[in-house]
Amino acid sequence: MAEPQAKLDAFPVFMRVKNRACVIVGGGAEAFAKARLLSQSSGDLVVVAEAMDYDFAEWLAARDDIRYEVARFHPSRLDGAALVFAATGKEDTDRAVVEAARAAGIPANAVDRPHLCDFYMPALVNRAPVAVAIGTEGAGPVLAQMIRARIEQILPPSLGRLATLAATYREAVERLLSPGSARRGFWQRFFGGEPARAVAAGDIAAASRAAARILESKAAARGHVALVGAGPGAEDLLTLRAHRLLMEADVIVHDALVPEAIVAMGRRDADRIAAGKRKGCHAKTQSEINDLLVGLGRAGRRVVRLKAGDPLVFGRAGEELAALRDAGIAHEVVPGVTAAFAAAADFALPLTLRGVASSMVFTTGHDLKGGTLPDWARLAIDGATVAVYMGRSVAADVARRLIEAGLSPDTAVAVVENASLPSKRQLHGTLADLPSLQGRAELTGPVLTIIGDAVAGADFSRSTPLAAHLPALAQA
Ligand code: SAH
Repeated sequence: MAEPQAKLDAFPVFMRVKNRACVIVGGGAEAFAKARLLSQSSGDLVVVAEAMDYDFAEWLAARDDIRYEVARFHPSRLDGAALVFAATGKEDTDRAVVEAARAAGIPANAVDRPHLCDFYMPALVNRAPVAVAIGTEGAGPVLAQMIRARIEQILPPSLGRLATLAATYREAVERLLSPGSARRGFWQRFFGGEPARAVAAGDIAAASRAAARILESKAAARGHVALVGAGPGAEDLLTLRAHRLLMEADVIVHDALVPEAIVAMGRRDADRIAAGKRKGCHAKTQSEINDLLVGLGRAGRRVVRLKAGDPLVFGRAGEELAALRDAGIAHEVVPGVTAAFAAAADFALPLTLRGVASSMVFTTGHDLKGGTLPDWARLAIDGATVAVYMGRSVAADVARRLIEAGLSPDTAVAVVENASLPSKRQLHGTLADLPSLQGRAELTGPVLTIIGDAVAGADFSRSTPLAAHLPALAQA
């Protein structure tokens, strides 16, 4: 159901440049800009230009850490270089520089000539030793600068000092704390607690004292399981809390409905366990999942149990919570945007509507298959809006039973496959049209159906009529 993730044509890496030559060929404004950027690194900058702009020459003359030569470019100038920048302003010369670099096995960048580049220069947020590089593969330098400006705001200027201080604790942490959650716990408290606050306030000594206190306390790792709602699928419908817990988790146990892009948001080194269950392909039974969560909690791990939508809506959360409670394992629940809300949003459909619908039912179609009418059918007849989960394969039963119970066949119905995702498909019609859903084998993603008079107020401009498929079902 998830969109395939687009692939990067340029993959970001961080080049080691300390004490290695970085050669810039050119003496104009572009070369000057590159020189300024590269002077933020500890690489040995070398500028080669036949002629040099006055302000560039003045800037170079004022610094003793940059070599420059007023000379014609010659391939021998590139000897031993880590990176080469062609910024002569002339296509032919830039090309010659790039070719010389490639012949020597050195990656080259030609300013404003993406077709000649082995690598692109990212927009840079520098909090050395921490760096954030933003690349757009040349698609949007302005976009890159806008993103950079926002990241500049988020990252405190003291971040570099904090990271430098952290490096001085690495050895002690490895010696005193066991790998895994103990070490991670230390670093979380280091970067998110008192040491970080003290560094921000400019008091490195206080930061060191706070770090030492955390190190001594060696608080034993306590297992914790969070049942987290991943939302309906769109990555940006995840809550901030869900995102934070994902970043902190040692283990992510996820359902098949949760898109890969959200599972991937956790730490790279977190364990990821697929717990199943998509219709027809069960990976683990519910009691196996319960045992797994309890086992991980007992082992002191920080677990995120990631479920589609909201974990408490048709998520088997009851069983998992009971198992955790019985085993005495700390746990919490983080709500998510449930499919019904995402589906309603896709249709701009008010679930409650003054004078029309004042209650709402979350149901699965499956209990309509039995002989007795469930109580909620009466609510529907009294005007409740009904959201049907897992209802595609029982659409005909749902429609038939509700009509038999007295709901008008003209009652409005809205259906969404893959709600909230770019791949969503929207359908609409009446209760009488609903059975056609069952015949639509092309709907392979999760499907949510909303029934009720409030649905009539929805926006159907991006939706196709269900009725168009009725004849196909009649034949079936
Ligand atoms: N806990 C989930 C529901 C899990 S049951 C929630 O709160 O949303 C699985 C059913 O949820 C699917 O059969 C489908 O009816 C519905 N569903 C989940 N994601 C959906 C989506 N993006 N679009 C439409 N329906 C979805």
